[in-house]
Amino acid sequence: MRMLRASRPIINDPLLNEYVSSLGHRLVANASDVKTPFHFFLIRNKEINAFAFFGGYVALHTGLFLYAQNESELASVVAHEIAHITQRHLARAMEDQARKSPLTIAALIGSLMLAVAAPEAGIAAAQATTAASIQSRINYTRSNEQEADRIGIDTLARAGFNPKAMPVFFGRMLEQYRYASKPPEFLLTHPLPESRITESRARAQQYPSVMLPPSEPYHLARARIIARFSGLEPAAALDWFTRQEKKASLSVKPTLEYGKALVYLDTRKPEKAAAILDKLISAEPENRFFLDALTDLYVQKKNTQKLLTCLTTH
Ligand SMILES: [Zn+2]
Repeated sequence: MRMLRASRPIINDPLLNEYVSSLGHRLVANASDVKTPFHFFLIRNKEINAFAFFGGYVALHTGLFLYAQNESELASVVAHEIAHITQRHLARAMEDQARKSPLTIAALIGSLMLAVAAPEAGIAAAQATTAASIQSRINYTRSNEQEADRIGIDTLARAGFNPKAMPVFFGRMLEQYRYASKPPEFLLTHPLPESRITESRARAQQYPSVMLPPSEPYHLARARIIARFSGLEPAAALDWFTRQEKKASLSVKPTLEYGKALVYLDTRKPEKAAAILDKLISAEPENRFFLDALTDLYVQKKNTQKLLTCLTTH
């Protein structure tokens, strides 16, 4: 974690941390063979990726939120990563390497972790040669991937998510990058042949269909990421929200309004933000995302009295 903190931008946002942690733990609570505590966190990076490493750490790139169109799709990636940990895929690969190589376990852990966490950054790290020589062997094997899919989809279904989201999301990812010169990191470390999608589609068919309403927390977290952590310019972020509004269902629309309010706050347009927040808060007075934005507004307007009242009453 220390190496990762030094090399990658980990997001420290209480609302987003709370969201990924509750999503992750809802899956862990429905997973088998859980022997260690899990920790979920977000990395600011627009590439689609997620990875798991020792100690039950699961990292999610913000880019996942740009591509996942609903909470079940995001959860399918998280469930897959959780399975890599419960099935000790990385740990087993490391034990295997330790038997064959003169390196210490500590050196191996470092380079394996970097190779998984950052196929590119890993090579530039201190243990350059080790990382490079191990990288070719660290990528999860096809049987690891099949196992993580099989166990992950079961966890997904037991946690009440839509199991069909897994083949849908993997299929979209493959389609997206079919002709790209550089596939996303996720596909480098998790080989995704067509057969994996076919298999997970067949597996998903074995579970009863679930029709879920859009998850408000997911869409709020998504809006917050688009507004604050996606690297989009304010105008482009506003444009994203406007385009989404056209196809969004009624229950998702307030989350897009919330995203716009954040952009207005961050570009010092408190009046525009206030007009939106007024409406959002009167509809959902205890929504923590909305209240958090309201306190941002009070800070900006230097309205100490209202700020203190808001923070003490909720
Ligand atoms: Zn995998």
